[in-house]
Amino acid sequence: MAVKVSSEWLNACSGCEISILNIGETILDLIPDKIELVHIPALVDSKYYGQLGDGTKLELPKATVGLISGGVRTEEHAEVVREMRDKVDILVALGTCATDGGIPAQANMWKNEDVLKKIFGDCPTHEPAGHPTEIVPPYTDSVLAVDEVAKVDIYIPGCPPHPDWIADALLALVEGKTEWALPERSVCDTCPVIREKKSAGGAAIKRPLENYTYDPDEPIEKMRCIMEQGYLCLGAVTRAGCAGKSGVPRCIQARQACRGCFGPIRRGAKPMVDMMGALSSIGQDAKSLVDRRALLNRFVGAHKNLRPLPQRGKK
Ligand code: SF4
Ligand code: SF4
Ligand code: SF4
Repeated sequence: MAVKVSSEWLNACSGCEISILNIGETILDLIPDKIELVHIPALVDSKYYGQLGDGTKLELPKATVGLISGGVRTEEHAEVVREMRDKVDILVALGTCATDGGIPAQANMWKNEDVLKKIFGDCPTHEPAGHPTEIVPPYTDSVLAVDEVAKVDIYIPGCPPHPDWIADALLALVEGKTEWALPERSVCDTCPVIREKKSAGGAAIKRPLENYTYDPDEPIEKMRCIMEQGYLCLGAVTRAGCAGKSGVPRCIQARQACRGCFGPIRRGAKPMVDMMGALSSIGQDAKSLVDRRALLNRFVGAHKNLRPLPQRGKK
């Protein structure tokens, strides 16, 4: 009998759902004999309150596996998480917004009222306007990861997660397994560049306003580590896996620094603290980083990693 799978998206951009589709032909081996998609709003319109809007309670169908992408930004998102938790056996947080807050959780550095004022009130590109408060779900106090609302069984991080890992996790679940996890390795562990364990760029961290130094005609193995060139690269504190089951990390392939999109190497790790240690170990000064709180928590602002700071001079 096919395993029933239900999918939901919350504070999401749909990149995670594109990644599901990018599994490619493997998914054709799974659907419909091994997997039955019972709910997937990215592909099929389905209503929370009955197909005719005649329901009185937000309801999702029962399933064995529930996939949730996106973080929790509204009370309705939180209700969807609780409802899916009630209706599925195994809950999967899909993508770094769901596992750690992702980019939207950068908003956690401000109070909601300040974010809304900035967007709707003080934005220089449009006329000031209010923001709707009726017939829309209220905001949560901050952007939350899914496991801050309900227990999560499996984490598939990435912005977006690589299709290899989504397929791998789904295949494991179809085979009756109840656990799945990416290996606890860092992006640096899978990066082939030259490392000498010391900075060649001085103590101050440079802003990436120019190309890093490399010869485009030479293989990536001949390039010096971006961090050792004096720029911020979050590979040391970021979970490996963005290139799928093999290959050079995706940004490094493009000769760009890792921004940290796969989140922490293990659950509960604090990338900001760990990265400050990694920088000082090669003689770089983390305090020279402009806006280091945002940069070092770029994808992991949930779990209270980012919070509003008291504003100086504001009572
Ligand atoms: S993790 Fe990335 S791809 Fe997935 S919903 Fe968030 S922003 Fe989009
Ligand atoms: S810091 Fe960046 S460039 Fe250097 S080894 Fe790690 S991932 Fe590669
Ligand atoms: S190199 Fe880092 S930021 Fe780039 S895709 Fe991989 S994990 Fe994400």
